[in-house]
Amino acid sequence: MSSRPPVSFPGGKQFAFSIFDDTDVATLEYIRPIYELLERLGFRTTKSVWPLPYYGHSDYQGSDTLADPEYASYVRHLQERGFEIAFHGARMETSERAEIIAAFERYKQILGRHPQAYAAHGRNCDNLYWGADRFRFRLWRWLYAALGGRHERAGEGHRPESPYYWGDLAEQHLRYVRSFTYDDLNVWNITAAVPYRTAGTPGVRAFFPSSFADNVEEFIELLSPARQAQLEHERGLAIVGTHFGKGFLHDGRVHPGVVEVLTRLSQRPGWFQPVSTLLDYLVEAQGGAVPLKGYALFRLEALWFWHRFHGRDKHRTYEKTESPYLRRASERRAARSG
Ligand SMILES: [Zn+2]
Repeated sequence: MSSRPPVSFPGGKQFAFSIFDDTDVATLEYIRPIYELLERLGFRTTKSVWPLPYYGHSDYQGSDTLADPEYASYVRHLQERGFEIAFHGARMETSERAEIIAAFERYKQILGRHPQAYAAHGRNCDNLYWGADRFRFRLWRWLYAALGGRHERAGEGHRPESPYYWGDLAEQHLRYVRSFTYDDLNVWNITAAVPYRTAGTPGVRAFFPSSFADNVEEFIELLSPARQAQLEHERGLAIVGTHFGKGFLHDGRVHPGVVEVLTRLSQRPGWFQPVSTLLDYLVEAQGGAVPLKGYALFRLEALWFWHRFHGRDKHRTYEKTESPYLRRASERRAARSG
């Protein structure tokens, strides 16, 4: 980053770092060692959950939800240890309004409050401002459709006429909604406006952009020593979206590459807080979510395409054989057919 960072961090910390863990394919036995490592290294991050179970066919079948008592109690334990628990939608597949209301209540029953942050999941119809509706500029909606998005159903969570509407609940309960993701560890290289708000998006108090690493291999690359050094040098802000359920365990232990990058990062002078804590601090420092419009918003949306296009060669696959969600999903299938 050539310009000065918009905000400096407390306690002489040189940069800020957090993780937003999308709960896809996560199970208790799989994620526990990862959260133990994070806690030991002094990181406090954000883990998302699905409050409700789903019993039909789903690519995510076998993932844990707050309907599993042991998992729910571990999630509560994480919250007590200073981790943030966020909302990844009501469940792994599309939910209608009544289910979404039930999901918020279930969350509150277990965690004592409502979630503050949310990220959309997959292609669920209840996603907020998703698909073509992510974009405020017609040019980008058109490009999105032209690149194949027209076959996709847009998320309708923000449309009052839809059976999947919950924009009013989002506005009432949530402070932060993840918008676009990029392949740059420092989100201030994308925009200085974090978190930001836009006109014409009722239901969302503030959006935040983030970087994204789909799985363990991409995570290790995103947090390479060179990128860590650059983040610190730029005095940047890192919010990394990822899936801890995707390959982070190896032979029952945290992948050695993850242990290495996180250990190195923990030795740097960073501020390691949950996503909402970091965003609250920025809101306080900047007098609110930063209004984003005109060219700055146009550019933010354009950069998403740019990163999608140039990030293609950065996609990595990962080892799935050990994933307990796959084992469990096939056991359930066998039990149904047997
Ligand atoms: Zn997801």
